[in-house]
Amino acid sequence: MRKKIVAGNWKMNLDFQQGISLFSEIVNMAKDEVVGQQQVVVCSPFIHLHGIAQLAKGTSRVAIGAQNIYFEEKGAYTGEISATQVKSAGAEYVILGHSERRAYFNESDELLSKKVDAALSHGLIPIFCIGETQEEREAGRYFDVIRGQLEKGVFHLPSEVFNKVVLAYEPVWAIGTGLTATPEQAQEVHAFIRQQVAGQYNQSVADQLTILYGGSCNPKNAPELFAQADIDGGLIGGASLKSRDFIDIVK
Ligand code: PGA
Repeated sequence: MRKKIVAGNWKMNLDFQQGISLFSEIVNMAKDEVVGQQQVVVCSPFIHLHGIAQLAKGTSRVAIGAQNIYFEEKGAYTGEISATQVKSAGAEYVILGHSERRAYFNESDELLSKKVDAALSHGLIPIFCIGETQEEREAGRYFDVIRGQLEKGVFHLPSEVFNKVVLAYEPVWAIGTGLTATPEQAQEVHAFIRQQVAGQYNQSVADQLTILYGGSCNPKNAPELFAQADIDGGLIGGASLKSRDFIDIVK
């Protein structure tokens, strides 16, 4: 049985108090309404990590994640933050390779593979994002793009370390656009990813891998997407900023 995860990605939203309020609502709703084994994760801006970690004490249902780290452990890297630092604030997960970071902050595959190593060596679970742009899809190159992102970002890991990674397929054209991949489109890519992992490692590693779908996921389209054989949950942007919608997606 693979782990099912719904992770919220708050991106650069919410001031401190707003984040605390939203997180309190999420924890309370999760306690009352969420049954089953699925893990809920909230990936907040750095400023919220410590505060929401206090609110998450006493519930294993809702875990906390960061949205980025730098790969160095400490030192003269003004403005950066390390795996150890976010971990000490309460994070268990970290989103890496998000398309917004690849596009706006020029994060290369090489840099990302170092960040993946830093996360894993400090006991953080990377939620490693991959996905093609609209042009790449239209040109029929999406399998190549995804294969390349896997090879350069995570396939250097030995299998016992790769086991800890969570992948998120997020077609760039579906992020924040309201355009969701159809369940068939998403399933096609998720099955492809699992097959690549089986080829790189083995079938049992592939069978245990949690692969999330992300891109305009909402309470309406989540049931059909999550019903696909190779989709193990979601990475939720916009809809994670409303507790009702987020918890409905989890449910
Ligand atoms: P969205 O974002 O749900 O707002 O499309 C998803 C993501 O970027 O992780």
